[in-house]
Amino acid sequence: MSDSQSIAFLGRWEGFQVGAVQRRERSPDRPREEVWIELIEVKGEAMRCSGCGRPLDRVYDIEQRWVRDLPLLDAETWLRLPRRRVDCPKCGPKVEHLPWLAPYSRVTRRLADSVARLCRDVPIRQVAAYFHLDWKTVKRIDKEHLQERLGPVDLAGVTVLLMDEFAIRKGHRYATTIVDPYTKRVLWVGRGRSRESLRPFFALLGREGRRAIRAVVMDMNGAYEEEVRAQCPQAEVIYDLFHVVAKYSREVIVRVRGDEANRLRSVKAACQMIKSSHWLLLRNKENISRPQDRVRLRELLAANRALFTVYVLKDELKHLWDFRYPKAALRFWKHWYGWAVRSRIEPLRRFAHRLKPYLPGIIAHCRWRLHTSLLEGINNTIKVIKRRAYGFHDDDYFFLKIRAAFPGIGR
Ligand SMILES: [Zn+2]
Repeated sequence: MSDSQSIAFLGRWEGFQVGAVQRRERSPDRPREEVWIELIEVKGEAMRCSGCGRPLDRVYDIEQRWVRDLPLLDAETWLRLPRRRVDCPKCGPKVEHLPWLAPYSRVTRRLADSVARLCRDVPIRQVAAYFHLDWKTVKRIDKEHLQERLGPVDLAGVTVLLMDEFAIRKGHRYATTIVDPYTKRVLWVGRGRSRESLRPFFALLGREGRRAIRAVVMDMNGAYEEEVRAQCPQAEVIYDLFHVVAKYSREVIVRVRGDEANRLRSVKAACQMIKSSHWLLLRNKENISRPQDRVRLRELLAANRALFTVYVLKDELKHLWDFRYPKAALRFWKHWYGWAVRSRIEPLRRFAHRLKPYLPGIIAHCRWRLHTSLLEGINNTIKVIKRRAYGFHDDDYFFLKIRAAFPGIGR
């Protein structure tokens, strides 16, 4: 086997044989070693149209092209090849189909595949630096791969939906994610958080699909409820634990802590203790691992009755989502509500009164075995993706990355 035959054997550029091969050493205007491989088309082989796939033998024109391939050892690898356009009776002049090179692409399929594989776990800029490619090229490759891999979503068999909003840019733009909580698959991501913004999803779901929806989990403050009631009147609306507890932290714990710090501002040590405890009070008890923090929390709660009450009632409120029987949940709620309204802690009483009308939607979760931690997980993942993929100001790409991160169990 000659040298060029060996290289052709290793490179497997179907339809081409290898001509001249050169190695270019590093120089002031060439920051890396390069290997240039000239490819020459194998004459007499049938060409195919990249538009419709039909075999053709008429060349429309030929253009010489430089294409990047995976590196050969330490060298950046460039292919120089004639890119033929065929004269297709159906599509007109079209570039010839090659299995290893997408039409109009400047990188081979295997290089694109490697880029896309790395983009699953690594930020774009690092991938670009690793392959010495422009970040725009890397983003385009990853986006095309995601579009191809995810395709149009299959909504067959979906009966329960989980809806949530997230900020694309805080205070400016929002988006909505819709998830199948049973398979943990992100079904859809769209701009906005209004009633109207959900309509493209329901259109996609179709009439049969809308009828098949039996329950929808959401935040009680969202605009989603009205739209869900209009689109799927048979579906039960469920309020999830994650949002109710977040609301409790905002409206009760933060305020009581502020009130108490205010009240005790003449007692310096007590005031300081409360002020520095903000994060301890808002965190889940299970997540406080350092022993000294646990002691601090215990001391704080022992010293302050109001904080102790709202803290304990937060933990108790979470239990409401543990019940499997609506009657038991209702009995528990009555206890909780009694404690809250008798507490004489104004923010707590206000919260309890406001929550009461939403009770049916909280009790409803008993009939649906749902993991409420899912929402928190999705929210955290979205933040990570935003840090990595955002700054590129491409919502569609950002949304594709979210869908790719939650492909569903067993897929
Ligand atoms: Zn064609």
